[in-house]
Amino acid sequence: MAEITIALSKGRIFDDTAPLLEAAGIVAKDNPASSRKLILDTNRANVRLVIVRASDVPTYVQYGAADLGIAGKDVLLEHGGNGLYQPLDLNIARCRMMVAVPEGFDYDSAVRQGARLRVATKYLQTTREHFADKGVHVDLIKLYGSMELAPLVGLADAIVDLVSTGSTLKANHLRAVEEIMPISSRLIINQAALKLKRETIQPILDAFAQAVKE
Ligand code: ATP
Ligand code: MG
Repeated sequence: MAEITIALSKGRIFDDTAPLLEAAGIVAKDNPASSRKLILDTNRANVRLVIVRASDVPTYVQYGAADLGIAGKDVLLEHGGNGLYQPLDLNIARCRMMVAVPEGFDYDSAVRQGARLRVATKYLQTTREHFADKGVHVDLIKLYGSMELAPLVGLADAIVDLVSTGSTLKANHLRAVEEIMPISSRLIINQAALKLKRETIQPILDAFAQAVKE
């Protein structure tokens, strides 16, 4: 059996992936919520998990530092997907990529009048593409978090962010005005590893696919 390294982030992705891993016969020996370890052994001697920042997962897999990974579509679109095989939507960590504006802001007129919109976001690629498709001119402002603050202090007219319940928007007097796309997490595989370690990887892939269907 080949040695397999799986990259994932702690929090919702680890929590939602654990049952899928279990379906593939893989159980972590520590929980990243309580352990500070970045490399977790599993019940299988040839499988280990590495815990990385959500947005770093595709990079670890692209360079082969991990063979497999689990990453949100939001993260994969920003990364670009180079060197990655993306065979399976795991339907976990689901949310929506949305445009949101302050409650009083007339988004439809701003867009219709061809105004230049200042948009703050962590998701530059997706945002640029979305507004280019609409023919709307945007000035993008890159942020790393707490996007909701930007329109409240005059940094931007609008934000592009992930929304699940909408309660963070509401608490900050923002409203979602447009859905860019639904988001969920995908299994990603290093393309070279898939060829070289197919015998070990394929059963994991099959078990994930089966577990997702159930
Ligand atoms: P960090 O929180 O470390 O700054 P992050 O926000 O990218 O990084 P997580 O919050 O763990 O990391 O999110 C991981 C993935 O889960 C995201 O890339 C996205 O696909 C998904 N996600 C983010 N927010 C939500 C949400 N509110 N509901 C459901 N899924 C979400
Ligand atoms: Mg987060």
